[in-house]
Amino acid sequence: MVLEMAEKTKRHPLYVPDIATITETENLTTTEKKFVIRFDDKEKRDSFSFLPGQFLEVTVFGIGEAPFSIPSSPNLKGSFELCVRNIGSVSGAMHKLPVGAKIGIRGPFGKGYFPYEKMKGNNVVIIAGGLGLAPVRSLIKLILEDRKSYKGLTLIYGCVEPNLLLYKDEVKELKKRDDIDVMLTVDRPDASWKESVGVCTNLIPGLKYLPEDTYAVVCGPPIMYRFVMIELEEKKYKPENIFLDMERRMECGVGKCNHCHIGDKLCCVDGPIFSLWEIKNLKEAL
Ligand SMILES: Cc1cc2nc3c(=O)[nH]c(=O)nc-3n(C[C@H](O)[C@H](O)[C@H](O)COP(=O)(O)OP(=O)(O)OC[C@H]3O[C@@H](n4cnc5c(N)ncnc54)[C@H](O)[C@@H]3O)c2cc1C
Repeated sequence: MVLEMAEKTKRHPLYVPDIATITETENLTTTEKKFVIRFDDKEKRDSFSFLPGQFLEVTVFGIGEAPFSIPSSPNLKGSFELCVRNIGSVSGAMHKLPVGAKIGIRGPFGKGYFPYEKMKGNNVVIIAGGLGLAPVRSLIKLILEDRKSYKGLTLIYGCVEPNLLLYKDEVKELKKRDDIDVMLTVDRPDASWKESVGVCTNLIPGLKYLPEDTYAVVCGPPIMYRFVMIELEEKKYKPENIFLDMERRMECGVGKCNHCHIGDKLCCVDGPIFSLWEIKNLKEAL
């Protein structure tokens, strides 16, 4: 299908999206919406696979294309999910699409992913801020689906307000489990809030995991990274075991347009997941 289309339009196959259908939507908050997507082409549907932390380029026809992470489990077959914040032209247009609408998908892209294989036999701490829960959700699911291969698992998730927490019901269920420690925090609590108050950095000093056998994963707004790094370095967690989702403004997704430089790296092809070791000396990184 892509090859036929590429031939017809004289475009390189990397730039031709596969057609997919929105099969389900759900409002997660007033600004974020979950989409369940299914490729129309059976061959594509059956062969599609991705690694946690990789992303897709999504086309809303007649509007444009934007990159989005894949929050569903890589083990889920037949469909995948997106979580889209309504912030601009493509995301806004996507929010208006009904179930049954067609979109275009390129990818998955990104060489850098969360190294879930290397994490086996170790503790994993996942620190997410706001929309940052979406990209790490695929890693959380993957670990929980093979829970015995890992040691401790902690999720620190911070938001501005309780009503902005993503996947609320799911997070509530995670809190009930004894094989994952979930710590929640908000900047502005409401009367019913019973968890921590303040930024998620405040919860890092309380972590019990030792540097020898701990991996950390960080995803959230750019401002969060510098402060989280200070706390993780204070815990002496190894820079090569700290992984950051470095989302940058990008267009092509395939290393051509050069819009997403971080020093001498390109976020789309070298990332978007980098170890702190790889990027700590790059000026534009943190
Ligand atoms: C790897 C990756 C994964 C992502 N995953 C997700 C995800 O899972 N969910 C999600 O909701 N978003 C995700 N994003 C962010 C998403 O791609 C952007 O929000 C994108 O801009 C949405 O496209 P748009 O056309 O709706 O917005 P636009 O119309 O492009 O505008 C979006 C916002 O960006 C601002 N903006 C425009 N140009 C620039 C610029 N050059 N530099 C900085 N800001 C600019 C605009 O002012 C506006 O506030 C991801 C981004 C990357 C790089």
